[in-house]
Amino acid sequence: MTNDAAPFSDPMNRGNDPLVARVSVALADGQFHSGEELAKALGVSRSAIWKAVRSLRDLGATLHAVRNRGYRLTTASEPLAAGAIRERLSPDVSARVKSLEVAWSVGSTNTVLLSRANPSNGSSEVMLAEYQTAGRGRRGRAWLAPPGGSICLSLSWTFRGVPADLSALGLVIGVCKLRALRELGVANAKVKWPNDILVDDRKLGGILIELRAESGGPACVVIGIGLNVALGAPLLAKIAETGIAATDLITAGLSKPSRNAVAGALVVSCIRGLLDFETEGLRPFIEEWRDADALRGRMVDLRGGTDEVARGLARGVDLHGALLVETPEGLKKFLSGDVSVRVS
Ligand code: ATP
Repeated sequence: MTNDAAPFSDPMNRGNDPLVARVSVALADGQFHSGEELAKALGVSRSAIWKAVRSLRDLGATLHAVRNRGYRLTTASEPLAAGAIRERLSPDVSARVKSLEVAWSVGSTNTVLLSRANPSNGSSEVMLAEYQTAGRGRRGRAWLAPPGGSICLSLSWTFRGVPADLSALGLVIGVCKLRALRELGVANAKVKWPNDILVDDRKLGGILIELRAESGGPACVVIGIGLNVALGAPLLAKIAETGIAATDLITAGLSKPSRNAVAGALVVSCIRGLLDFETEGLRPFIEEWRDADALRGRMVDLRGGTDEVARGLARGVDLHGALLVETPEGLKKFLSGDVSVRVS
């Protein structure tokens, strides 16, 4: 990766590869920009631009290069900006967001927030990154997201005590994501227990909740939200290699999604959801979950902690967020596990 440009005076970790970050912003309009024009605008050599474009591609961005015209991102992408996201927050939520930062590149936005002190009860820190070098899903699985083509957002929250149905929080955040998506114009998103958002049976987003609880003290959660905006064919193919069919907001019908608006809607919905969850648990969310349940009535294979697979008919979730599966041995409840839908 290149490092030819003057470093950003950015307190976050944008210094990882600042020229790549600036080239990414310069190409965000989706128009062609010649190497010469970019070099002049960014005060570096053309070969530095060439290397930065190559780095951007290596990170997963889909770029189009045409002789005598230059480079363009195949899908225009609004750069994330903390001020623009903050502007989208309602006053009640903004008052609770103590910090809201956008980094060019971090290991994982969850990891950054987990390394910090717990926010006070009722307030949150929000962290976004254009690119994660070590984006994570559950059980250490990789979360892949191209710079400029995704939302990688984490927010931290401290509960007064440990909520009774903490394991249902993933479902609550799933419903919060659905609410935000509906507001943005995606009406047909579904939830797949425990933590996926699907459109047309393809994965649009994931959720990773990590907990830090001190015995007898408050419980702090860091909630990681991944949402695909415009993945591009190379990354779609890479995700397909893991056995998952992915999709993004553009494919789901949003022609020019404002990533700052998407991020703002997610923060508002999640913070309001956390406040309701803290006082009322899963109850205010359960009907919406059930209405959007992608598994209900389908034959599923469920893999729990062991290699054992339970096979049966998905019967929805109970009031504690457990998945109910009707198996030949009777109705079984699962509080965690991996589910795949049987196609036969
Ligand atoms: P599953 O989706 O099989 O139920 P999971 O929900 O536990 O598993 P996560 O932990 O949420 O999966 O996410 C990691 C998995 O998601 C990866 O193993 C990969 O298959 C898939 N994946 C990675 N990046 C993306 C992405 N941008 N969009 C959709 N799926 C992705």
